[in-house]
Amino acid sequence: MLKQKKEDKYFKNYIGGDFHAPISQNYLENYSPPIGQVYSYIPDSDERDVELAVEAAQKAFPMWSNTTLEMRSRMLMRIADLIEQNVERLALAETEDNGKPLSLSSTVDIPRAASNFRFFATAILHFASESHAMGKDVVNYTLRKPLGVVGCISPWNLPLYLFTWKIAPALAAGNTVVAKPSEVTPRTAFLFSEICQEAGLPEGVLNIVHGLGTKAGRAIVTNPDIKAISFTGSTRAGKEIAQTASPMFKKLSLELGGKNPNIIFADCDFQQMLTTTIRSSFSNQGQICLCGSRIFVQRPIYERFKTEFTAKAYLLKVGDPMEENTHIGALVSKEHTDKILHYIDLAQKEGGTILAGGKQVHPKGRCSEGWFVEPTVIEGLPYDCRTNQEEIFGPVVTIMPFDTEDEVIKYANSTEYGLAATVWTSNLQKAHRVAERLESGIVWVNCWMVRDLRTPFGGVKNSGVGREGGWEALRFFTEPKNVCIKF
Ligand code: NAD
Repeated sequence: MLKQKKEDKYFKNYIGGDFHAPISQNYLENYSPPIGQVYSYIPDSDERDVELAVEAAQKAFPMWSNTTLEMRSRMLMRIADLIEQNVERLALAETEDNGKPLSLSSTVDIPRAASNFRFFATAILHFASESHAMGKDVVNYTLRKPLGVVGCISPWNLPLYLFTWKIAPALAAGNTVVAKPSEVTPRTAFLFSEICQEAGLPEGVLNIVHGLGTKAGRAIVTNPDIKAISFTGSTRAGKEIAQTASPMFKKLSLELGGKNPNIIFADCDFQQMLTTTIRSSFSNQGQICLCGSRIFVQRPIYERFKTEFTAKAYLLKVGDPMEENTHIGALVSKEHTDKILHYIDLAQKEGGTILAGGKQVHPKGRCSEGWFVEPTVIEGLPYDCRTNQEEIFGPVVTIMPFDTEDEVIKYANSTEYGLAATVWTSNLQKAHRVAERLESGIVWVNCWMVRDLRTPFGGVKNSGVGREGGWEALRFFTEPKNVCIKF
Protein backbone atom coordinates (compact mmCIF):
# COMPACT_ATOMS: atom_id res chain seq x y z
CA MET A 1 0.00 0.00 0.00
CA LEU A 2 1.19 3.51 -0.82
CA LYS A 3 2.16 5.24 2.41
CA GLN A 4 -0.71 7.57 3.20
CA LYS A 5 0.96 10.96 3.20
CA LYS A 6 -1.14 14.04 3.61
CA GLU A 7 -1.36 15.04 -0.04
CA ASP A 8 0.23 18.40 -0.70
CA LYS A 9 -1.99 20.78 -2.65
CA TYR A 10 1.13 21.86 -4.50
CA PHE A 11 2.12 18.99 -6.77
CA LYS A 12 5.82 18.46 -7.50
CA ASN A 13 7.87 17.30 -10.42
CA TYR A 14 9.42 13.86 -10.01
CA ILE A 15 13.03 14.12 -11.19
CA GLY A 16 15.96 11.85 -10.38
CA GLY A 17 13.83 9.86 -7.95
CA ASP A 18 12.90 12.88 -5.86
CA PHE A 19 10.23 15.57 -5.69
CA HIS A 20 11.08 19.05 -6.90
CA ALA A 21 9.31 22.39 -7.03
CA PRO A 22 9.52 24.07 -10.45
CA ILE A 23 12.68 26.14 -10.87
CA SER A 24 10.57 29.23 -11.66
CA GLN A 25 8.61 28.64 -8.40
CA ASN A 26 5.49 29.34 -10.48
CA TYR A 27 2.40 27.14 -10.18
CA LEU A 28 -0.73 26.72 -12.33
CA GLU A 29 -4.22 26.42 -10.93
CA ASN A 30 -5.78 22.98 -11.11
CA TYR A 31 -9.58 22.79 -11.25
CA SER A 32 -11.91 20.06 -10.09
CA PRO A 33 -14.54 19.91 -12.91
CA PRO A 34 -17.51 18.63 -10.86
CA ILE A 35 -17.32 21.67 -8.59
CA GLY A 36 -15.75 24.10 -11.06
CA GLN A 37 -13.20 25.28 -8.50
CA VAL A 38 -9.44 25.37 -8.05
CA TYR A 39 -8.40 22.67 -5.61
CA SER A 40 -4.66 22.22 -6.16
CA TYR A 41 -1.68 23.65 -7.98
CA ILE A 42 0.78 22.17 -10.44
CA PRO A 43 4.33 23.18 -11.37
CA ASP A 44 4.49 25.59 -14.29
CA SER A 45 7.67 23.89 -15.49
CA ASP A 46 9.85 25.25 -18.29
CA GLU A 47 12.85 24.10 -20.29
CA ARG A 48 15.10 24.27 -17.18
CA ASP A 49 13.02 21.63 -15.39
CA VAL A 50 12.95 19.52 -18.54
CA GLU A 51 16.75 19.79 -18.81
CA LEU A 52 17.12 18.55 -15.23
CA ALA A 53 14.81 15.65 -16.03
CA VAL A 54 16.75 14.81 -19.19
CA GLU A 55 20.05 14.88 -17.29
CA ALA A 56 18.62 12.51 -14.66
CA ALA A 57 17.29 10.21 -17.38
CA GLN A 58 20.62 10.21 -19.25
CA LYS A 59 22.46 9.35 -16.07
CA ALA A 60 20.10 6.44 -15.38
CA PHE A 61 20.12 5.06 -18.93
CA PRO A 62 23.32 2.92 -18.88
CA MET A 63 22.22 1.15 -15.69
CA TRP A 64 18.55 0.68 -16.68
CA SER A 65 19.25 -0.45 -20.25
CA ASN A 66 21.69 -3.05 -18.90
CA THR A 67 19.44 -4.56 -16.25
CA THR A 68 18.24 -8.05 -17.07
CA LEU A 69 14.80 -8.39 -18.61
CA GLU A 70 13.69 -10.28 -15.52
CA MET A 71 14.71 -7.39 -13.26
CA ARG A 72 12.87 -4.85 -15.39
CA SER A 73 9.86 -7.09 -15.60
CA ARG A 74 9.79 -7.53 -11.83
CA MET A 75 10.00 -3.78 -11.26
CA LEU A 76 7.09 -3.15 -13.65
CA MET A 77 5.07 -5.84 -11.88
CA ARG A 78 5.75 -4.18 -8.55
CA ILE A 79 4.41 -0.91 -9.93
CA ALA A 80 1.30 -2.72 -11.25
CA ASP A 81 0.76 -4.26 -7.79
CA LEU A 82 0.95 -0.86 -6.14
CA ILE A 83 -1.50 0.65 -8.64
CA GLU A 84 -3.90 -2.20 -7.86
CA GLN A 85 -3.48 -1.81 -4.11
CA ASN A 86 -4.35 1.86 -4.48
CA VAL A 87 -7.27 1.56 -6.91
CA GLU A 88 -9.70 3.28 -4.61
CA ARG A 89 -7.49 6.28 -3.87
CA LEU A 90 -6.39 6.67 -7.49
CA ALA A 91 -9.95 6.36 -8.79
CA LEU A 92 -11.20 9.02 -6.38
CA ALA A 93 -8.35 11.29 -7.43
CA GLU A 94 -9.08 10.70 -11.13
CA THR A 95 -12.75 11.49 -10.68
CA GLU A 96 -12.10 14.62 -8.67
CA ASP A 97 -9.51 15.80 -11.20
CA ASN A 98 -11.24 14.83 -14.44
CA GLY A 99 -14.97 14.72 -13.63
CA LYS A 100 -15.58 11.18 -14.92
CA PRO A 101 -17.95 8.93 -12.95
CA LEU A 102 -16.24 7.09 -10.11
CA SER A 103 -17.87 3.92 -11.43
CA LEU A 104 -15.74 4.36 -14.56
CA SER A 105 -12.43 5.39 -12.99
CA SER A 106 -12.58 2.55 -10.46
CA THR A 107 -13.47 -0.17 -12.99
CA VAL A 108 -11.78 1.00 -16.18
CA ASP A 109 -9.18 3.77 -15.90
CA ILE A 110 -7.18 2.63 -12.89
CA PRO A 111 -7.42 -1.17 -13.35
CA ARG A 112 -6.32 -0.67 -16.96
CA ALA A 113 -3.35 1.41 -15.85
CA ALA A 114 -2.25 -1.59 -13.77
CA SER A 115 -2.92 -3.89 -16.75
CA ASN A 116 -0.69 -1.74 -18.96
CA PHE A 117 2.22 -2.32 -16.58
CA ARG A 118 1.47 -6.01 -16.16
CA PHE A 119 1.09 -6.51 -19.90
CA PHE A 120 4.44 -4.93 -20.87
CA ALA A 121 6.19 -6.49 -17.85
CA THR A 122 5.45 -9.89 -19.38
CA ALA A 123 5.58 -8.88 -23.05
CA ILE A 124 9.23 -7.84 -22.78
CA LEU A 125 10.15 -11.37 -21.64
CA HIS A 126 8.83 -12.74 -24.94
CA PHE A 127 9.93 -9.96 -27.28
CA ALA A 128 12.29 -11.41 -29.89
CA SER A 129 13.82 -10.11 -33.08
CA GLU A 130 14.08 -11.63 -36.54
CA SER A 131 16.82 -13.60 -38.22
CA HIS A 132 17.08 -14.03 -42.02
CA ALA A 133 19.21 -16.76 -43.52
CA MET A 134 20.49 -16.31 -47.12
CA GLY A 135 21.47 -19.54 -48.75
CA LYS A 136 23.90 -21.72 -46.81
CA ASP A 137 26.55 -19.29 -45.66
CA VAL A 138 24.98 -15.94 -44.81
CA VAL A 139 22.78 -15.07 -41.88
CA ASN A 140 21.31 -11.75 -40.83
CA TYR A 141 20.07 -11.11 -37.35
CA THR A 142 18.40 -8.00 -36.00
CA LEU A 143 19.41 -6.51 -32.70
CA ARG A 144 16.84 -4.33 -30.97
CA LYS A 145 18.27 -1.77 -28.60
CA PRO A 146 16.54 0.81 -26.44
CA LEU A 147 16.65 4.32 -27.86
CA GLY A 148 17.93 6.23 -24.82
CA VAL A 149 15.88 8.99 -23.26
CA VAL A 150 12.35 9.16 -24.67
CA GLY A 151 9.49 11.64 -24.18
CA CYS A 152 5.91 10.62 -23.38
CA ILE A 153 3.15 13.25 -23.55
CA SER A 154 -0.46 12.39 -22.75
CA PRO A 155 -3.94 14.00 -22.76
CA TRP A 156 -6.65 14.59 -20.14
CA ASN A 157 -9.43 12.20 -21.18
CA LEU A 158 -8.01 8.93 -19.77
CA PRO A 159 -5.27 10.45 -17.63
CA LEU A 160 -3.48 7.61 -15.82
CA TYR A 161 -4.56 4.99 -18.32
CA LEU A 162 -2.93 6.71 -21.33
CA PHE A 163 0.06 7.95 -19.33
CA THR A 164 0.96 4.36 -18.35
CA TRP A 165 0.10 3.04 -21.83
CA LYS A 166 3.22 4.91 -23.05
CA ILE A 167 5.50 4.75 -20.03
CA ALA A 168 5.19 0.98 -19.47
CA PRO A 169 6.48 -0.14 -22.91
CA ALA A 170 9.15 2.58 -22.93
CA LEU A 171 10.55 1.37 -19.60
CA ALA A 172 10.11 -2.31 -20.43
CA ALA A 173 12.23 -1.85 -23.56
CA GLY A 174 15.06 -0.36 -21.46
CA ASN A 175 14.62 3.35 -22.16
CA THR A 176 14.58 6.05 -19.55
CA VAL A 177 11.68 8.47 -19.72
CA VAL A 178 10.75 12.11 -19.38
CA ALA A 179 6.96 12.21 -19.23
CA LYS A 180 4.41 14.99 -19.08
CA PRO A 181 0.76 14.43 -18.16
CA SER A 182 -1.91 16.87 -19.26
CA GLU A 183 -1.90 20.09 -17.24
CA VAL A 184 -5.70 19.71 -17.10
CA THR A 185 -5.56 16.38 -15.19
CA PRO A 186 -2.20 16.10 -13.42
CA ARG A 187 -3.22 14.48 -10.15
CA THR A 188 -2.97 10.74 -10.76
CA ALA A 189 0.39 11.28 -12.51
CA PHE A 190 1.57 12.96 -9.30
CA LEU A 191 0.30 10.04 -7.20
CA PHE A 192 1.88 7.68 -9.71
CA SER A 193 5.29 9.29 -9.10
CA GLU A 194 4.85 8.45 -5.41
CA ILE A 195 4.03 4.87 -6.41
CA CYS A 196 7.21 4.61 -8.51
CA GLN A 197 9.28 5.88 -5.60
CA GLU A 198 7.58 3.44 -3.24
CA ALA A 199 8.18 0.59 -5.71
CA GLY A 200 11.91 1.35 -5.66
CA LEU A 201 12.19 2.33 -9.32
CA PRO A 202 15.84 3.44 -9.61
CA GLU A 203 16.26 7.20 -9.62
CA GLY A 204 16.11 8.95 -12.97
CA VAL A 205 14.54 5.98 -14.83
CA LEU A 206 11.21 7.79 -14.98
CA ASN A 207 10.93 11.56 -14.61
CA ILE A 208 7.59 13.34 -14.56
CA VAL A 209 7.50 17.02 -15.42
CA HIS A 210 4.23 18.91 -15.02
CA GLY A 211 3.19 22.01 -16.91
CA LEU A 212 1.75 23.53 -20.05
CA GLY A 213 1.99 21.89 -23.45
CA THR A 214 3.27 25.06 -25.01
CA LYS A 215 6.05 25.36 -22.42
CA ALA A 216 7.03 22.09 -20.70
CA GLY A 217 5.65 19.95 -23.55
CA ARG A 218 7.43 21.95 -26.20
CA ALA A 219 10.68 21.79 -24.18
CA ILE A 220 10.45 17.97 -24.27
CA VAL A 221 9.87 17.97 -28.03
CA THR A 222 12.74 20.39 -28.78
CA ASN A 223 15.28 18.83 -26.43
CA PRO A 224 17.95 17.27 -28.69
CA ASP A 225 18.79 14.53 -26.16
CA ILE A 226 15.28 13.09 -26.28
CA LYS A 227 15.34 10.51 -29.06
CA ALA A 228 11.66 9.77 -29.53
CA ILE A 229 8.29 11.30 -28.74
CA SER A 230 5.22 9.24 -28.01
CA PHE A 231 2.32 11.68 -28.06
CA THR A 232 -1.43 11.30 -27.59
CA GLY A 233 -3.62 14.37 -27.96
CA SER A 234 -5.16 16.71 -30.48
CA THR A 235 -4.37 16.76 -34.19
CA ARG A 236 -3.49 20.45 -33.79
CA ALA A 237 -0.73 19.75 -31.21
CA GLY A 238 0.34 16.65 -33.15
CA LYS A 239 0.98 18.78 -36.23
CA GLU A 240 3.09 21.21 -34.24
CA ILE A 241 5.09 18.39 -32.67
CA ALA A 242 5.69 16.79 -36.08
CA GLN A 243 6.88 20.14 -37.50
CA THR A 244 9.42 20.51 -34.70
CA ALA A 245 10.54 16.92 -34.23
CA SER A 246 10.72 15.73 -37.85
CA PRO A 247 13.70 17.92 -38.87
CA MET A 248 15.45 16.65 -35.72
CA PHE A 249 14.85 13.08 -37.03
CA LYS A 250 13.19 11.99 -33.81
CA LYS A 251 11.12 8.85 -33.84
CA LEU A 252 7.47 9.87 -33.57
CA SER A 253 4.32 8.09 -32.53
CA LEU A 254 1.29 10.36 -32.82
CA GLU A 255 -2.14 9.25 -31.59
CA LEU A 256 -4.50 12.08 -32.53
CA GLY A 257 -8.13 13.10 -32.88
CA GLY A 258 -11.06 11.26 -34.39
CA LYS A 259 -14.60 11.59 -35.73
CA ASN A 260 -15.61 7.98 -35.60
CA PRO A 261 -18.47 6.55 -37.65
CA ASN A 262 -20.90 4.04 -36.21
CA ILE A 263 -22.56 2.11 -39.06
CA ILE A 264 -25.77 0.29 -38.20
CA PHE A 265 -27.25 -2.04 -40.81
CA ALA A 266 -30.90 -3.09 -40.65
CA ASP A 267 -29.95 -6.75 -40.17
CA CYS A 268 -28.12 -6.21 -36.85
CA ASP A 269 -29.05 -7.55 -33.42
CA PHE A 270 -31.04 -4.46 -32.48
CA GLN A 271 -30.98 -4.72 -28.68
CA GLN A 272 -27.30 -5.52 -28.45
CA MET A 273 -26.52 -2.68 -30.84
CA LEU A 274 -28.69 -0.21 -28.92
CA THR A 275 -27.15 -0.95 -25.52
CA THR A 276 -23.61 -0.71 -26.90
CA THR A 277 -24.33 2.40 -28.97
CA ILE A 278 -25.45 4.28 -25.88
CA ARG A 279 -22.08 3.41 -24.32
CA SER A 280 -20.05 4.17 -27.43
CA SER A 281 -21.76 7.56 -27.68
CA PHE A 282 -21.69 8.80 -24.09
CA SER A 283 -19.11 6.89 -22.01
CA ASN A 284 -16.77 9.29 -20.24
CA GLN A 285 -19.08 12.13 -21.44
CA GLY A 286 -18.17 11.19 -25.03
CA GLN A 287 -14.57 12.12 -24.27
CA ILE A 288 -12.96 8.90 -25.46
CA CYS A 289 -11.06 9.13 -28.72
CA LEU A 290 -12.84 5.88 -29.71
CA CYS A 291 -16.41 7.08 -29.07
CA GLY A 292 -18.62 6.97 -32.16
CA SER A 293 -19.97 10.45 -32.82
CA ARG A 294 -21.56 10.01 -36.27
CA ILE A 295 -24.25 7.35 -36.23
CA PHE A 296 -25.40 6.12 -39.64
CA VAL A 297 -28.55 3.96 -39.51
CA GLN A 298 -29.97 2.01 -42.44
CA ARG A 299 -33.36 3.41 -43.39
CA PRO A 300 -35.67 0.44 -42.53
CA ILE A 301 -34.71 0.73 -38.84
CA TYR A 302 -33.99 4.47 -38.70
CA GLU A 303 -37.27 5.57 -37.04
CA ARG A 304 -37.17 2.75 -34.49
CA PHE A 305 -33.55 3.54 -33.67
CA LYS A 306 -34.27 7.24 -33.37
CA THR A 307 -37.14 6.67 -30.91
CA GLU A 308 -35.44 4.07 -28.72
CA PHE A 309 -31.98 5.66 -28.74
CA THR A 310 -33.37 9.07 -27.82
CA ALA A 311 -35.46 7.55 -25.02
CA LYS A 312 -32.36 5.83 -23.62
CA ALA A 313 -30.32 9.03 -23.83
CA TYR A 314 -32.99 10.80 -21.75
CA LEU A 315 -32.63 8.15 -19.05
CA LEU A 316 -28.93 8.80 -18.51
CA LYS A 317 -28.39 10.57 -15.22
CA VAL A 318 -26.17 13.62 -15.40
CA GLY A 319 -24.62 14.77 -12.14
CA ASP A 320 -22.15 14.29 -9.31
CA PRO A 321 -19.60 11.76 -10.60
CA MET A 322 -19.05 10.46 -7.05
CA GLU A 323 -22.63 9.15 -6.93
CA GLU A 324 -23.10 5.51 -7.81
CA ASN A 325 -26.05 5.97 -10.19
CA THR A 326 -24.49 8.79 -12.24
CA HIS A 327 -23.92 7.96 -15.91
CA ILE A 328 -22.66 11.28 -17.19
CA GLY A 329 -20.17 13.16 -15.04
CA ALA A 330 -18.59 16.56 -15.53
CA LEU A 331 -16.81 17.77 -18.64
CA VAL A 332 -13.15 18.37 -18.09
CA SER A 333 -12.99 22.18 -18.15
CA LYS A 334 -14.96 25.35 -18.70
CA GLU A 335 -13.20 25.90 -22.06
CA HIS A 336 -14.15 22.42 -23.21
CA THR A 337 -17.75 22.90 -22.05
CA ASP A 338 -17.94 26.17 -23.99
CA LYS A 339 -16.54 24.42 -27.06
CA ILE A 340 -19.21 21.71 -26.87
CA LEU A 341 -22.02 24.21 -26.37
CA HIS A 342 -20.66 26.15 -29.33
CA TYR A 343 -20.91 23.01 -31.51
CA ILE A 344 -24.47 22.32 -30.32
CA ASP A 345 -25.32 25.85 -31.39
CA LEU A 346 -23.52 25.41 -34.71
CA ALA A 347 -25.42 22.17 -35.36
CA GLN A 348 -28.72 24.05 -35.08
CA LYS A 349 -27.48 26.86 -37.30
CA GLU A 350 -26.52 24.21 -39.86
CA GLY A 351 -30.12 22.96 -39.84
CA GLY A 352 -29.93 20.18 -37.24
CA THR A 353 -32.77 19.29 -34.88
CA ILE A 354 -32.02 18.42 -31.28
CA LEU A 355 -33.81 15.19 -30.36
CA ALA A 356 -32.39 14.91 -26.83
CA GLY A 357 -30.30 17.08 -24.54
CA GLY A 358 -28.57 20.13 -25.95
CA LYS A 359 -28.31 22.09 -22.73
CA GLN A 360 -25.90 22.77 -19.92
CA VAL A 361 -26.88 21.25 -16.57
CA HIS A 362 -26.44 22.78 -13.12
CA PRO A 363 -27.01 19.95 -10.64
CA LYS A 364 -28.25 20.80 -7.17
CA GLY A 365 -25.84 20.69 -4.26
CA ARG A 366 -22.06 20.64 -4.28
CA CYS A 367 -21.82 20.37 -8.10
CA SER A 368 -23.93 23.42 -8.91
CA GLU A 369 -20.89 25.30 -10.27
CA GLY A 370 -19.49 22.28 -12.15
CA TRP A 371 -19.39 21.76 -15.92
CA PHE A 372 -22.13 19.43 -17.14
CA VAL A 373 -23.88 19.01 -20.49
CA GLU A 374 -26.83 16.73 -21.27
CA PRO A 375 -26.27 13.76 -23.59
CA THR A 376 -27.24 15.27 -26.90
CA VAL A 377 -28.67 13.63 -30.02
CA ILE A 378 -29.00 15.64 -33.24
CA GLU A 379 -30.61 14.72 -36.58
CA GLY A 380 -31.21 16.32 -39.93
CA LEU A 381 -27.65 17.26 -40.84
CA PRO A 382 -25.80 16.42 -44.06
CA TYR A 383 -22.74 14.19 -43.68
CA ASP A 384 -20.38 16.91 -44.89
CA CYS A 385 -21.36 19.85 -42.64
CA ARG A 386 -18.93 21.12 -40.02
CA THR A 387 -20.77 19.41 -37.14
CA ASN A 388 -20.22 16.12 -38.93
CA GLN A 389 -16.65 16.79 -39.97
CA GLU A 390 -14.98 18.39 -36.93
CA GLU A 391 -14.08 16.66 -33.66
CA ILE A 392 -16.42 17.75 -30.84
CA PHE A 393 -15.18 15.28 -28.19
CA GLY A 394 -18.19 15.52 -25.91
CA PRO A 395 -21.61 13.93 -25.22
CA VAL A 396 -22.92 14.89 -28.65
CA VAL A 397 -23.84 12.55 -31.50
CA THR A 398 -25.58 13.00 -34.81
CA ILE A 399 -27.82 10.38 -36.39
CA MET A 400 -28.33 10.03 -40.15
CA PRO A 401 -30.21 7.54 -42.36
CA PHE A 402 -28.58 5.73 -45.29
CA ASP A 403 -29.70 3.24 -47.91
CA THR A 404 -26.75 1.44 -49.45
CA GLU A 405 -23.33 0.12 -48.45
CA ASP A 406 -21.54 2.34 -50.98
CA GLU A 407 -23.34 5.41 -49.71
CA VAL A 408 -22.50 4.83 -46.04
CA ILE A 409 -18.87 4.06 -46.79
CA LYS A 410 -18.62 7.36 -48.62
CA TYR A 411 -20.10 9.16 -45.58
CA ALA A 412 -17.92 7.28 -43.10
CA ASN A 413 -14.69 7.98 -45.00
CA SER A 414 -15.53 11.63 -45.68
CA THR A 415 -13.67 13.21 -42.72
CA GLU A 416 -10.00 14.07 -42.34
CA TYR A 417 -9.84 11.51 -39.49
CA GLY A 418 -9.53 7.74 -39.44
CA LEU A 419 -9.20 6.37 -35.92
CA ALA A 420 -11.98 3.90 -35.12
CA ALA A 421 -15.24 2.68 -36.65
CA THR A 422 -18.03 0.40 -35.51
CA VAL A 423 -20.13 -1.79 -37.80
CA TRP A 424 -23.35 -3.54 -36.79
CA THR A 425 -24.62 -6.37 -38.99
CA SER A 426 -25.39 -10.06 -38.75
CA ASN A 427 -24.17 -10.65 -42.30
CA LEU A 428 -20.62 -11.97 -42.08
CA GLN A 429 -19.69 -11.14 -45.65
CA LYS A 430 -20.94 -7.60 -45.33
CA ALA A 431 -19.00 -7.16 -42.09
CA HIS A 432 -15.71 -8.17 -43.74
CA ARG A 433 -16.43 -6.16 -46.86
CA VAL A 434 -17.24 -2.95 -45.00
CA ALA A 435 -14.38 -3.36 -42.51
CA GLU A 436 -11.98 -3.68 -45.42
CA ARG A 437 -13.22 -0.49 -47.11
CA LEU A 438 -13.26 1.77 -44.06
CA GLU A 439 -10.40 4.25 -43.75
CA SER A 440 -9.76 3.54 -40.10
CA GLY A 441 -7.01 2.17 -37.85
CA ILE A 442 -9.49 0.11 -35.82
CA VAL A 443 -12.82 -1.45 -36.82
CA TRP A 444 -15.15 -3.07 -34.31
CA VAL A 445 -17.87 -5.37 -35.64
CA ASN A 446 -20.86 -5.96 -33.35
CA CYS A 447 -18.97 -4.61 -30.35
CA TRP A 448 -17.12 -1.55 -29.09
CA MET A 449 -14.06 -0.93 -26.92
CA VAL A 450 -13.21 -4.59 -26.74
CA ARG A 451 -9.48 -4.20 -26.21
CA ASP A 452 -6.77 -6.82 -26.55
CA LEU A 453 -3.52 -5.11 -25.59
CA ARG A 454 -1.60 -7.17 -28.17
CA THR A 455 -3.37 -5.58 -31.14
CA PRO A 456 -2.04 -2.54 -33.05
CA PHE A 457 -3.68 0.65 -31.86
CA GLY A 458 -3.70 3.90 -33.83
CA GLY A 459 -5.20 5.86 -36.66
CA VAL A 460 -4.84 6.77 -40.32
CA LYS A 461 -5.12 10.17 -42.04
CA ASN A 462 -5.14 13.03 -39.50
CA SER A 463 -5.75 10.60 -36.64
CA GLY A 464 -2.05 9.93 -36.41
CA VAL A 465 1.12 8.17 -37.40
CA GLY A 466 2.40 4.90 -35.99
CA ARG A 467 0.84 2.26 -33.80
CA GLU A 468 0.86 1.53 -30.09
CA GLY A 469 0.11 -1.74 -28.32
CA GLY A 470 1.80 -5.15 -28.27
CA TRP A 471 4.94 -5.63 -30.33
CA GLU A 472 4.24 -2.35 -32.15
CA ALA A 473 4.98 -0.38 -28.97
CA LEU A 474 8.12 -2.38 -28.18
CA ARG A 475 9.31 -1.93 -31.76
CA PHE A 476 8.69 1.81 -31.53
CA PHE A 477 10.72 2.09 -28.35
CA THR A 478 13.68 0.13 -29.76
CA GLU A 479 16.06 0.72 -32.66
CA PRO A 480 16.70 -2.24 -34.97
CA LYS A 481 20.23 -2.96 -36.11
CA ASN A 482 20.84 -5.63 -38.73
CA VAL A 483 24.02 -7.69 -38.43
CA CYS A 484 24.92 -9.64 -41.57
CA ILE A 485 27.44 -12.48 -41.21
CA LYS A 486 29.05 -14.54 -43.95
CA PHE A 487 30.69 -17.68 -42.71
P1 NAD B 1 -3.88 18.44 -26.46
O1 NAD B 1 -3.24 18.20 -27.77
O2 NAD B 1 -4.33 19.79 -26.13
O3 NAD B 1 -2.86 18.05 -25.28
C1 NAD B 1 -2.32 16.73 -25.16
C2 NAD B 1 -1.00 16.82 -24.41
O4 NAD B 1 -0.06 17.51 -25.23
C3 NAD B 1 -1.07 17.61 -23.11
O5 NAD B 1 -0.18 17.03 -22.18
C4 NAD B 1 -0.57 18.99 -23.53
O6 NAD B 1 0.00 19.70 -22.47
C5 NAD B 1 0.48 18.62 -24.57
N1 NAD B 1 0.74 19.63 -25.60
C6 NAD B 1 -0.13 20.51 -26.16
N2 NAD B 1 0.49 21.24 -27.09
C7 NAD B 1 1.77 20.80 -27.15
C8 NAD B 1 2.91 21.17 -27.93
N3 NAD B 1 2.84 22.14 -28.83
N4 NAD B 1 4.07 20.51 -27.74
C9 NAD B 1 4.14 19.51 -26.82
N5 NAD B 1 3.11 19.14 -26.05
C10 NAD B 1 1.94 19.76 -26.21
O7 NAD B 1 -5.05 17.38 -26.34
P2 NAD B 1 -6.11 17.23 -25.16
O8 NAD B 1 -7.09 18.33 -25.31
O9 NAD B 1 -5.39 17.04 -23.87
O10 NAD B 1 -6.78 15.83 -25.50
C11 NAD B 1 -7.89 15.67 -26.34
C12 NAD B 1 -7.46 15.21 -27.70
O11 NAD B 1 -6.73 14.00 -27.59
C13 NAD B 1 -8.63 14.89 -28.62
O12 NAD B 1 -8.35 15.42 -29.89
C14 NAD B 1 -8.65 13.37 -28.66
O13 NAD B 1 -9.20 12.82 -29.83
C15 NAD B 1 -7.20 13.06 -28.57
N6 NAD B 1 -6.98 11.70 -28.11
C16 NAD B 1 -6.52 10.78 -29.00
C17 NAD B 1 -6.31 9.47 -28.61
C18 NAD B 1 -5.80 8.43 -29.56
O14 NAD B 1 -5.42 7.37 -29.11
N7 NAD B 1 -5.75 8.70 -30.85
C19 NAD B 1 -6.57 9.10 -27.27
C20 NAD B 1 -7.04 10.06 -26.40
C21 NAD B 1 -7.24 11.38 -26.82
